[in-house]
Amino acid sequence: MNKFLILVIEDDYAIRNLITTTLETQNYKFRTSENGTEGIMAAASYQPDVILLDLGLPDMDGVDVIRKIRLWSNVPIIVISARSEDSDKIEALDNGADDYLTKPFSVDELLARLRVTKRRLLSMSSETGNQGAVFENGALKIDYLAGTVFVETEELHLTPIEYKLLCLLAHNVGKVLTHNYIIKEIWGNSMESDLASLRVFMATLRKKLDKRSDGIQYIQTHIGIGYRMVRV
Ligand code: CA
Repeated sequence: MNKFLILVIEDDYAIRNLITTTLETQNYKFRTSENGTEGIMAAASYQPDVILLDLGLPDMDGVDVIRKIRLWSNVPIIVISARSEDSDKIEALDNGADDYLTKPFSVDELLARLRVTKRRLLSMSSETGNQGAVFENGALKIDYLAGTVFVETEELHLTPIEYKLLCLLAHNVGKVLTHNYIIKEIWGNSMESDLASLRVFMATLRKKLDKRSDGIQYIQTHIGIGYRMVRV
């Protein structure tokens, strides 16, 4: 299962080297590109399973690379960016990136992100047979037809907004969703004031979930960015 092909698009030699050395130790296959134009071409010709994409590339903005690739591919894209570029990260996620790594990152962090992405790909391929009716993640179970949510055998009583939030996160399990994206999906607009509402609804939802989840955290907070449901 490690024979996964990863495309690394990164112009910085030292970081590219760190990434490829790490991938080698884990028996991942990889290809590298040093700029956006080459990266887009490599994505088309090698059909990688995952793309690691630096946002600051010499020839074009990493976000434009994502936009171009998203025209024809749903390949998971993990962006790599400096800490000071939070707004770039959000833009990247809003344009279809799946996850992000912040420079400087550790080798363990990189591998953890790849495992998350791999698990998501695996669960997506195993779920294609029974898409829709019921979502299960650990002890959490959403029955979309009945509109019910259970943790173990206990039903959670959610408000309509909490339920919509939970379903949205479940549909995108493993993926970081930005505040903006969530607000647009739930309320249909992106008013600044809705961020406060989102935080409140998310807090009550998590409280209900966590109370019955035995220390398992289904929803991760990404400060300044958004939320993700973790595949447990
Ligand atoms: Ca760079």
